[in-house]
Amino acid sequence: MAVRRWWTGPVGAYPVLLYHGIAEAAARPAEGAKFWVAAAQAAAQWCWLRDQGPGVTTLAEAWAGRGEGRAVITFDDGGSSDYEAAYPALQTCGLSATFFVNPARVGQVGFASWAHLTSMSRNGMAIASHGWDHGDLTQPSEAGLREQLRRSKQEIEQHTGERVRFLAAPYGYYDRRLARIAGEEGFDAVCTSTNRWARAGGAEVPRVAVYGRTTLGQFAALAAGQAGAYWRRRARTWALARAGHALYRWRQAEAGRA
Ligand SMILES: [Zn+2]
Repeated sequence: MAVRRWWTGPVGAYPVLLYHGIAEAAARPAEGAKFWVAAAQAAAQWCWLRDQGPGVTTLAEAWAGRGEGRAVITFDDGGSSDYEAAYPALQTCGLSATFFVNPARVGQVGFASWAHLTSMSRNGMAIASHGWDHGDLTQPSEAGLREQLRRSKQEIEQHTGERVRFLAAPYGYYDRRLARIAGEEGFDAVCTSTNRWARAGGAEVPRVAVYGRTTLGQFAALAAGQAGAYWRRRARTWALARAGHALYRWRQAEAGRA
């Protein structure tokens, strides 16, 4: 079977690809521009997955252990390109993805609306929680964290009529308390972005980001679970992530003093 031939990671593991938005280089937001991909680039990646690579399955199927190494496509942040670009391209390819959104931002300029997300949900896309307002979920009090998780889950479920099973941690910031409370609040698992493959039934679902600079060869190596591709990714991002996190904490501290 094509999947078995392609997947070189451990048995029971699967790749979860993380996208942030689709736009041509000139139209990307200044902050986080590197996380955006061009429409033709995404289409080439998805066609490759479908026609030559391991295939694509849903996060729910893969997490349940029924993915057999097929790739999972996810989008964070609920930007308007989710509906305008990603959704039609996925439909053209006959593929499904999970979209993690912040209810506090839904319908704002630059973000998908509830009508968009409901339409996507009715047509095979999964809508899930990225927290209430994209705040770092390792920071609030326990009561505050529970409130954010519960509110985001309920609001999405009220609009789509589907159970929200997964949470994606904003900025990938994740700790044991978030894992525990997310479980207690009814989430099956929390998605992060630690450049590892995911495992069926795991409380954490690591993901690997697709950047504008990611070549089809690099993409194929990640989708095939090649250990070296993941290792190189972690080595490259480790220092950047540490520096970015330190800067974020410093800004939070400065904002607190202001
Ligand atoms: Zn995000």
